[in-house]
Amino acid sequence: MDWIDLRSDTVTQPTAAMREAMMAAAVGDDVYGEDPTVNALQERLASDLGFEAGLFVPSGTQSNLIGLMAHCQRGDEYIVGMDAHTYKFEGGGAAVLGSIQPQPIVQQADGTLPIDAVERAIKPIDPHFARSRLLCLENTWHGCVLPMDYLAQARALCDRRGLALHLDGARLYNAAVALGVAPREITQHFDSVSVCLSKGLGAPVGSVLLGTRALIDDARRWRKVTGGGMRQAGILAAAALYALDNNVARLADDHARATRLDEALRGLPGIDVVTQQTNMVFIDVPVARLPALREQMEAARVRLSIGYTPAIRLVTHMDVDDAGLDRAIAALRAFGSEG
Ligand SMILES: *Cc1c(COP(=O)(O)O)cnc(C)c1O
Repeated sequence: MDWIDLRSDTVTQPTAAMREAMMAAAVGDDVYGEDPTVNALQERLASDLGFEAGLFVPSGTQSNLIGLMAHCQRGDEYIVGMDAHTYKFEGGGAAVLGSIQPQPIVQQADGTLPIDAVERAIKPIDPHFARSRLLCLENTWHGCVLPMDYLAQARALCDRRGLALHLDGARLYNAAVALGVAPREITQHFDSVSVCLSKGLGAPVGSVLLGTRALIDDARRWRKVTGGGMRQAGILAAAALYALDNNVARLADDHARATRLDEALRGLPGIDVVTQQTNMVFIDVPVARLPALREQMEAARVRLSIGYTPAIRLVTHMDVDDAGLDRAIAALRAFGSEG
């Protein structure tokens, strides 16, 4: 019996058609800027999302890191959500490697950082303080789509107070599909954006950082310094281009399946559904029953993400079809029907 893997949308396998696109890719040495497929991907995303330039990198973690390092100097500060990926799930890289101080702010349940809390966190210009340079948002955050009017308010605050605005848009396309807007309607508010191709879009590897040409030139330097300069990376960029051409609209299917999963788990005595948005469902079970959950899901060959976030995360993606989802629902309902 195959595993139904609901841990993350990173687990997808490249399809046969995607592998064919990879095999056919024209390649060159991308450290010399000579990989035509990487260049095409960078230009395509820059043009789609409204930026001067883009940079293909191995991971979203590196994309965010070099973006932060391009915006901030040693002793500068970025303001960020307490549960944001760029603060909590990137090994402290901005501080460790960039000498950039994070100023975390408690996120609201919808993933926004209250505008007045951000404003109060901005430091006066005074040698006592790090220099506040950047606000970093995440969209989607834990599946939540940030409201469009909130993005405009964040932009206005950054303009008023002289901060740059970065988006960790690992799941930007999920947000755009959920809102029914073009992705650039979201990205228009930001100075830089990091997009993952290896999440719901289904490519095996890669993220792209977008910004002004000057910012991307700096980031390219930091990409090399942090070991992310790749050579014939067009093989990977071809998968990313294939994903952009074929796998964006279908994110709506993942969202519909997450909604179905949410509905199927509501009202059970043994499972508390915390939230569901886009392709994520978060559930709680009593701590004492976690070993039983692990055991029963293992027996049913269903994988969940337990322990990374306070609630248990279930993520729908390309490799979970209706039949797979039904199997996961049956296993979870069997567990949840006992209190
Ligand atoms: C996955 C993810 C990243 C980084 O991705 P990696 O490619 O795994 O380094 C960044 N931000 C968010 C919100 C993510 O979900």
